[in-house]
Amino acid sequence: MSQPPHPRTSSAIPPTAILHQTSGPDSPEKPEIMSSEEEVEVNHGKGVIWRGGYRIPLIRLRFNDVCDEGSTVILNSGLNLHDVLVDAVVGVLDALYTPKTAPTNVRSVTFIVRSMDGVAYTTGMDIDDDHKEIHFSTDYIAGVNERSNGKQNKQEILGVIRHEMVHCFQYNAFGGANGGLIEGIADWVRYKAGFRPPHWHRGEGNEWDDGYERTAYFLLWLEDQYGPETVPRINGWMKSRRYSDKLFIDLFNEKPDELFQRYKKWCDEHKEEESSEAACGGDAKESAPDKEESCPETSPQNEGDDHSYVEVSEPREDCNVSEVKLVARDRLCKLTYDGTGSFKRFLNSFEGLIEVLDSNMSEGERKLLLVTALKGDALAWLDAIDPEDEVDYPGLKVLLESNSSAAYKS
Ligand SMILES: [Zn+2]
Repeated sequence: MSQPPHPRTSSAIPPTAILHQTSGPDSPEKPEIMSSEEEVEVNHGKGVIWRGGYRIPLIRLRFNDVCDEGSTVILNSGLNLHDVLVDAVVGVLDALYTPKTAPTNVRSVTFIVRSMDGVAYTTGMDIDDDHKEIHFSTDYIAGVNERSNGKQNKQEILGVIRHEMVHCFQYNAFGGANGGLIEGIADWVRYKAGFRPPHWHRGEGNEWDDGYERTAYFLLWLEDQYGPETVPRINGWMKSRRYSDKLFIDLFNEKPDELFQRYKKWCDEHKEEESSEAACGGDAKESAPDKEESCPETSPQNEGDDHSYVEVSEPREDCNVSEVKLVARDRLCKLTYDGTGSFKRFLNSFEGLIEVLDSNMSEGERKLLLVTALKGDALAWLDAIDPEDEVDYPGLKVLLESNSSAAYKS
């Protein structure tokens, strides 16, 4: 999460592998915006580095263990991390600002690849919030590699980096902004960059601030209604104000809940278009490198085993717990089993999510959730196995599993 940008004068930078250097200590604090003719393309070693009219902060890269499986996945992904990180800075600034309005307080971004729970998080260094750290989990990307047979690696690395980079530069109403909105803006930028994972779908979520892609799609709709400056205006509103939902009344003359109701109605009326659009990348501004591979149709591994994005925000216990639960609830809502593929794998995901959500959940409630996740052939099995709704939860799991392995063999 970023603090509202404001100029700082000095701060120590711990030594790590330096990807490239921006302004030295003697450089002017607020360099003039260069015109495009004068612009220096990324200039290694010395001087201020510019790209597309934006000042690039010092970017540093650290692998805590290059032998870690997830590190290998990143190093073998074919991505040039220099370009990926610089492009992420420019892409984020260009999505939310212009060269004249872009904040210049961020002095460095350190990208740290290490083993940890969750996906990634962004934080300011203890010493100075204008030095940002993006922590990226090797365990997570190793899991993506395994589940997708490597097909989602690039898209996911690019997408997570873009999302986290937004947190380095976005305004957050002095730290008090609605968390769902902050995450929604980050995923809106990710979507616009073309790094949409296959499990994202328009029209999901029950509240405008459910966060992540659910709020991102709401923002995309707002943008359609109110023009391309919509999200930059929302972000800009939070530069110098304390957060309240008045933001939406100021900018759109309506409360966010009312706007969201209109959005949901619109989604219901345009369901057909979404499913064809969802198949291949929507209106993404840049095309994703592996776009064809990210289509649900060509990534069966991701269908029904859908857990490619569980971000854990800043490591603060109170907000971590609720955010993980929120994500688990969402994943559970989307998790279905139609009789194809491994029931066991489905069940492992199903029970894992329930453990996160409510490990004390009763068997009756577990059965209800399991039964409502069945579709197609699996639903037909259920009718045959338990026509009177009498079998208990453990019994139902056993029967479904034996049915599934019998169907597999036939
Ligand atoms: Zn985030």
